[in-house]
Amino acid sequence: MSAEPDYRTPEEKRQAHAASNPDLAESLDPKAWNCTQEAGTEQAFTGIYWEEKRSGTYRCIVCGAALFDSGAKFDSGCGWPSFTEPVANDPKTDSVVDARVDSSHGMVRTETTCSSCGAHLGHLFPDGPGPTGDRFCINSACITLEER
Ligand SMILES: [Zn+2]
Repeated sequence: MSAEPDYRTPEEKRQAHAASNPDLAESLDPKAWNCTQEAGTEQAFTGIYWEEKRSGTYRCIVCGAALFDSGAKFDSGCGWPSFTEPVANDPKTDSVVDARVDSSHGMVRTETTCSSCGAHLGHLFPDGPGPTGDRFCINSACITLEER
């Protein structure tokens, strides 16, 4: 729907979101703050959603944007919630999840962030099942399940 592509970096989006939401630090628990705002990673098999099987929409814990559908969730065995694709992954529209190269920690990975608020979500790996081969490996702390 947006008329102009949004070229802001995730950090710029996070700053803008924090500026208009001064209570953000109090509303997020420390783990969610670390993962979404400081690109932290929760320990494998410790998050609340890696084994989650309920149906629904996973939303950004920071801004509430719909990011992933339970129908795209699969059991990767990696200890983090894993998805084959974000919702509305239509090439004609802006993706709800941004991806960029992340060469921190001595690895070259693809970082994923919320395209609305810049929240760090996790990483994207090319070893997923299905037609795309994508595995969106997401911290439980960065998302919240809206059941249906
Ligand atoms: Zn967001």
